[in-house]
Amino acid sequence: MKLYYDLHIHSCLSPCGDEDSTPNNIVNMALIKGLNVIALSDHNTGKNCPAAIAVGKKNGLVVLPAMELTTSEDIHILCLFEKYEDLKKLEDHIQKTRLRIRNKPEIFGHQRILNENDEVIGEEEDLLIVSSGVSVQEAAALVKGFGGIAVPAHIDKQSNGLIGVLGAFDYGLGFEMVECTVDSGVELPQITDSDAHYLWDISEAEHFISAESCSAHGVFAALKKMCAEGKCR
Ligand SMILES: [Zn+2]
Ligand SMILES: [Zn+2]
Repeated sequence: MKLYYDLHIHSCLSPCGDEDSTPNNIVNMALIKGLNVIALSDHNTGKNCPAAIAVGKKNGLVVLPAMELTTSEDIHILCLFEKYEDLKKLEDHIQKTRLRIRNKPEIFGHQRILNENDEVIGEEEDLLIVSSGVSVQEAAALVKGFGGIAVPAHIDKQSNGLIGVLGAFDYGLGFEMVECTVDSGVELPQITDSDAHYLWDISEAEHFISAESCSAHGVFAALKKMCAEGKCR
């Protein structure tokens, strides 16, 4: 079956994410747009994923747990998972390695953790948009080791994109998929996402993947199959 997706969406936990980007608002906007599956991918954290997954379950939208990892070189890597427990293991690892700089909400924005009723249950105190101690050389294997898929994010963007930072795409880094809004020219399967920081930027039902079932398992299996086949779309 065809599943329309947007696998790169930020919530109000990202300092740069709009405060209206709550789990309920994101899920409802994705449904209005006609999407079947989204991934919530905040910077260096997955702490709003449990709420978004729960809201998705109640409303018939598949929500994959994810995070947008910042490598030590300031390259953004979208890390997609089937299960939150696996993402949590990556998050625990990242938390130990990332720079500890206190967030200044008045400058960078709030970093709010919400529950499935959009109630604030916590605030991340350290700034999330900083480099982790994970290098781009180890990212693919590290994420795979925790059961996820590491996808260099927005490789067509100069800032924080792998090609923009390194100057060229290095196949030796072990990535099996890329994220790009245009034809990347990279010989790997490609996904196209919105990288929405505001609700209205969430993708329309334009890009789809073919999956066996409309479930986190089905979507993740389809992504893994694309990686294994190395097929460009
Ligand atoms: Zn990014
Ligand atoms: Zn992003």
